Amino acid sequence: MQGFNKYYPPDYDGEKHKSLNSYRGKHALGDRARKLDKGILITRFELPFNIWCGTCNNHIGMGVRYNAEKKKIGTYYSTPIYSFRCKCHLCDGWFEIQTDPKNTRYVVVSGARQKDEEWNPEENGGFAIHDTEASATSVDPLTALEKSTDAQNHLTKVQVPRLESLQGLSDHYNDDPYARSSIVRKHFRTEKKSDAAKRAADDQLKGRYGLPETLKLLEDDVAARNEAREEWVKGRREFEAQSSIRKARLSSSAKPWPSANNLSSLRAKILDNTRRSSLMAKAKPPER
Ligand SMILES: [Zn+2]
Repeated sequence: MQGFNKYYPPDYDGEKHKSLNSYRGKHALGDRARKLDKGILITRFELPFNIWCGTCNNHIGMGVRYNAEKKKIGTYYSTPIYSFRCKCHLCDGWFEIQTDPKNTRYVVVSGARQKDEEWNPEENGGFAIHDTEASATSVDPLTALEKSTDAQNHLTKVQVPRLESLQGLSDHYNDDPYARSSIVRKHFRTEKKSDAAKRAADDQLKGRYGLPETLKLLEDDVAARNEAREEWVKGRREFEAQSSIRKARLSSSAKPWPSANNLSSLRAKILDNTRRSSLMAKAKPPER
């Protein structure tokens, strides 16, 4: 039994024994490593297919598990080939199964027979899955010629020019990465500077007029200035027109102040009216 717990006996010496397993003279894998000196590790192996045992001739179903002796017996290129030696559970016979990296499968080497259950679609009225052979079906030679001519035309007239233009574009953009990069970065730097200056100017303007921080100011360029000037001129003109209308209205409704000349004539008129009324009063005595 290997050391599962962490009990260190009084005579345990770390310098001498290194580990608890070596102190007890056990391997970390325990009983499974009992044939490790022969290159064999005991593993649990599950039958990948149905077999008949060669000794007792009994059928053993796929999925039955054995404590198999796993051993590396060679390599296929760099892939190791393992053999699994199992003892039949119905008799004492041994059978051996190996991995086959070339065909990615298992093969029975000795002591048993594999039940042949490989599914062949062609034998069962289906189509072959892996048809690596070129199909030898006869085709109409004219049709074949037409097809190949079409393909040739498509290649020369569409595909090749397209590829060439793509190649040219790629060359154009990738011929001098250093120069391209420096141009872009230079541009970016100047833009960054001008952006910062513009932001500072905007902030100053907003501070001066108490505008909200979130307000977005228009670009200060020639077009914007012209537009603003036009708007101002238009507004000014409208204002002037309205004020002149208002003035005209005021002048028409208000009576002008009487001038000196008018004043004397008014006085004469009043005196004349008074005289006339007094004369009429004398001529016609009041009724009693
Ligand atoms: Zn058997």
